Parts: sequence; structure tokens; C-alpha cells
Amino acid sequence: MRVPVTVYLGLGSNLGDRLNHLQQAVEQLQAHPEIRVTRVSSIYETVPVGPVEQPDFLNMVVAAETTLSPEELLSAVQEIEQRLHRVRTIRWGPRTLDIDILLYGERVLRQEGLTLPHPRMEERAFVLIPLLEVAGNLRIPGSGATVQARLEAAPDRSGVRKTPYRMNLTPVVG
Ligand code: ATP
Ligand code: MG
Ligand code: MG
Repeated sequence: MRVPVTVYLGLGSNLGDRLNHLQQAVEQLQAHPEIRVTRVSSIYETVPVGPVEQPDFLNMVVAAETTLSPEELLSAVQEIEQRLHRVRTIRWGPRTLDIDILLYGERVLRQEGLTLPHPRMEERAFVLIPLLEVAGNLRIPGSGATVQARLEAAPDRSGVRKTPYRMNLTPVVG
């Protein structure tokens, strides 16, 4: 038996019914036999950062326990992205659903196709603000910085606005 690890996932959508995409993503994560979603953040509306002109995102962070390895978890979240008809067009372009693994326990990993912690999370207010809600002021493995400290330096803070939307977290039995 593997010991469950606490992970944090960053979810985003900026195409179609964005709220529904986030809802479905959380439900599909919860339906996975080796993932148990334990906390969900508020939902934030975010002005896109980066080189591509595109619609605003809805973003949130979920905390979960999993017995999957980092690689297995990445496959699982990519499968959910595919099921929600994510079409990959341009890098950093619009998408129906993006699920990034922000943190996998204390793990620091840099390998082909998977970097942990997520390599750009420490500079993104749209990640750090919801992460602070569900994780509190933990220290980010590797850099050792607190979420709060990174947030104070994040350049995109003014582009992140809390919405009144809140996701229902269906409890799992067993
Ligand atoms: P960003 O990573 O800057 O948020 P993105 O989420 O739009 O950009 P994607 O197209 O979703 O980028 O992912 C590109 C690749 O990133 C994936 O194929 C995956 O292999 C890789 N990747 C590396 N580390 C991670 C991680 N921690 N979580 C998710 N994907 C990762
Ligand atoms: Mg991303
Ligand atoms: Mg991604």
C-alpha cells in the first residue's frame, strides 16, 4: 500500500462554459479511485498573462490526497483535460481546461515532461491567491519561500478578482 500524498492542482478555463468545465474537472478528479479531493478554493476571474490575446480565465486550486505517483497523476489529469475536449492550439493560448500539478507533497523533480513544483507557480497570483486559501502559508519545496511572500511579489495581482461562484465538493464514501 502506498501512503497518500497531499497534492495541489491548479485549474483554469477560458473557453466555452468555463464554470461548468471547472465543475466537471473537480467531479472527474473526485471520481478517480486513487484521488480524493479534500479542499477547493474560491473561483477567481483572471486577466490572462503572457503573449497571447485571449478571453479571461476562471481559475481555482484544489487540494487532494493521492496514491498515484507524480507521473501517474500527470497522466490522470491529462486524461481529464482530453475528456473535456481540450484542443491544443498555440502554447499558452485559450483552452477549455488546464490542470497543472502545482505541488506533489515535498517532491522536487525536474524531468522530461514533469517539473515539480510547477515551474511558473511562484510568479502567478492567479495560482498563489487560491493556493493560499486551501494550503495556508506553506513553504514551497525547493525555493523554501512562503506562498504569502511570493504573492507579495507577484506582478499580476491586480488582474485576479474573486467571483461569487463556489464549487460544491461532493463527499466520497469510504
Ligand atoms: P504553463 O505550464 O505555463 O501553465 P500550460 O499549462 O498552458 O502552461 P500545457 O500545454 O498544459 O501548458 O502543458 C505543457 C506541458 O507541461 C505538458 O505536456 C506537461 O508534460 C508539462 N508539465 C511539466 N510540469 C508540469 C506540471 N507540474 N503540471 C502539469 N504539466 C506539466
Ligand atoms: Mg497552466
Ligand atoms: Mg498545463
